[in-house]
Amino acid sequence: MSLKVIIEALSRGISTIHMNIDVGLWFECGAKAFGGRPALFLDRDGVIIADTGYVGRAENVRVLDGAADAIARCNSLGIPIVVVTNQSGIGRGYYGWEGFEAVQREVSTVLVAAGAHLDAVLACAYHAEGCGALRYADHPWRKPNPGMIDMATKRLEIDRSRSWIVGDRVDDLVAGRAAGLAGGTLIASDSAMRQAAASLANPNFGIETTHTLAEAVAALIETGRLAADD
Ligand SMILES: [Mg+2]
Repeated sequence: MSLKVIIEALSRGISTIHMNIDVGLWFECGAKAFGGRPALFLDRDGVIIADTGYVGRAENVRVLDGAADAIARCNSLGIPIVVVTNQSGIGRGYYGWEGFEAVQREVSTVLVAAGAHLDAVLACAYHAEGCGALRYADHPWRKPNPGMIDMATKRLEIDRSRSWIVGDRVDDLVAGRAAGLAGGTLIASDSAMRQAAASLANPNFGIETTHTLAEAVAALIETGRLAADD
């Protein structure tokens, strides 16, 4: 289904748009745009769920401690949650979009039980070592490129200059900086990774480091770095 079809569906008020834009890209969102609000962008593996390596089966999903409550906290404040996830496991042929969808369903089930939900999910399966049509070096959607964040901010009317990203790899933060977000939080205990993240800071892009999404969200809200409109 083309992007044009998605946009037409959105304008008709269809409740959930849920599909592959093309063979290597996924864009799922609700019917409503966010009217210029700031959003919290989240990497998935290692941030919301345990990164056990190429998670492509529902039974391998383990939502990390405190993650659902942290997302619920943002939901209650009216801060949209947008997942942006590289899925080279699909590109490499380890699992398909059906596996990705099954994982997302499982994640949503756990989140809903905690009163939490995701507002949009974008994924990129392209990889330099992908199979067939999914072989694509440096695809603009694949982090550290900002394509997924760019797409979400434009289509969902998100104020990127007040938005933040949380990831467990420096590439997540590089993507956020390239997209013009306000800053990024790295979830990591490794000091070399933390130093690499710190080196990304500039006057327009703040850097934080924490150990969990719950800590990251608490710090962002309590310091006012991430705030919904009144
Ligand atoms: Mg990750």
